[in-house]
Amino acid sequence: MKLLHVCSEFFPLLKTGGLADVTGTLPAAQRQSKTNVRLLMPGFPALLAGIAGLKKIAECDTFAGHVTLLLGKYQGMPIYLIAAPHLYQRSGSPYHNLESKPYIDNYLRFALLGWMACELAKGIDKRWSANIVQAHDWHAGLTCAYLAANNYPARAVFTIHNLAYQGLFEARRFRELTLPDDFFNSEGLEFYGQISYLKAGLFYADQITTVSPTYALEITTPNFGGGMEGLLQLRFQQKRLSGVLNGIDQQVWDPAKDKLIRYHYHSQRLNGKALNKKVLQAELGLTSDSQALLFAAVSRLTMQKGLDLVLNILPELLKRGGHFVLLGSGDEALEQAFHAFSLDYPDQMHVRIGYSESLSHRVIAGVDVLMIPSRFEPCGLTQLYGLKYGTLPLVRETGGLADTVQDCSIENLHDGIATGFVFQRCTNADLLKAVRRAFTLWAQPKKWRQTQRNGMQQSHGWQNAVVDYQRIYKTILAR
Ligand code: ADP
Repeated sequence: MKLLHVCSEFFPLLKTGGLADVTGTLPAAQRQSKTNVRLLMPGFPALLAGIAGLKKIAECDTFAGHVTLLLGKYQGMPIYLIAAPHLYQRSGSPYHNLESKPYIDNYLRFALLGWMACELAKGIDKRWSANIVQAHDWHAGLTCAYLAANNYPARAVFTIHNLAYQGLFEARRFRELTLPDDFFNSEGLEFYGQISYLKAGLFYADQITTVSPTYALEITTPNFGGGMEGLLQLRFQQKRLSGVLNGIDQQVWDPAKDKLIRYHYHSQRLNGKALNKKVLQAELGLTSDSQALLFAAVSRLTMQKGLDLVLNILPELLKRGGHFVLLGSGDEALEQAFHAFSLDYPDQMHVRIGYSESLSHRVIAGVDVLMIPSRFEPCGLTQLYGLKYGTLPLVRETGGLADTVQDCSIENLHDGIATGFVFQRCTNADLLKAVRRAFTLWAQPKKWRQTQRNGMQQSHGWQNAVVDYQRIYKTILAR
């Protein structure tokens, strides 16, 4: 089996969200378990700079201009990059310009990615060709269409990390993509008169996976399916849609050896966590108080993440003596609202607008509760970091959050399986109830510690996912 992952982000070189954490770790875990695996990504500046020993594999004229295929390595992992400076040599995000506007040629930039993936299955690299191609999110969705158009030189897996981003482009661009005319069809990659790169992935993949079992079910319903639910229901009935829960990189996220935190700790010696809390309170100018229940959110600020609810209940949380830290960026109105609110509570609250990998480690290690009140959450990684760090996740019961966090109900506490706080409805009242449960448990230190340990002792690595994906690849190769 020769497996090619096709994606547009890669931790630690280029990250805008959880996708990078997955593509930065899953292939490495598969390689460790002896899978022959490589990656293909666009030649974004950060990747060209960070990947060593890049050598030319091929050069070609394509519908997206003249491009060169390069091959290098990152920590032993072979990575192909498409060098096309006219498309990828731009500062800032891989997807949009400095004003947060999507690049107008995104349809070409990401079509080329899919096209090249197919070429790698057809043998453009004389020494290595994929027989399984796993395309991640809409950026890589056209991979599956090009494979279909070429009679599937490799099997196609399409992995949904977030169905909310559909990669929609104007129909008039279709001609430029050099796909067969009949692909622009509702039985194809057309979505209500537009081209959808996401739908190309869903329609033409041999198998669709998403990043948690609950999200796999949710996206077959109108509330979560974004208009794709009909197709997804069909795929589910055909056993061509399943959920594989993400793991975390325990080289990077492990409180016993995390290079970015001051005091190391583990489930049997939690005092390092209390010291990290003290250091964090000092760093952020919060009152130094080990008894104050310290909440945090580390997140993109979008409607998906439900942080508007947190804003609504913050007065009550602070009134009860809680403290709160926000590290995040995104929606400007939310950024400003949090910032404005924090000015009245300098001793209890700190808002840091921006993105900081190192501060995110210090926050997750230093606080007591990590809030993830998402409206939907395909998998979510921060709650897994919280579990690993003895920082109890407070989550809404959706997607991967529902699959990974057990509420501290009396029966779960009694059975030793509670790991955090879970609420159901996306309302201030429900969130507030979960916050009150957090205060109640905090007042019972023994139970709190036990709940921390329950989460810390779980396995959060990639072992299970590697086995599940292996099973999926074998099944579709045998079809
Ligand atoms: P999503 O991919 O939807 O943003 P995930 O929970 O899957 O959500 O992954 C988010 C990742 O991005 C996590 O690794 C989280 O720690 C990180 N992250 C989000 N916002 C920030 C931030 N402001 N600073 C540092 N890391 C962040």
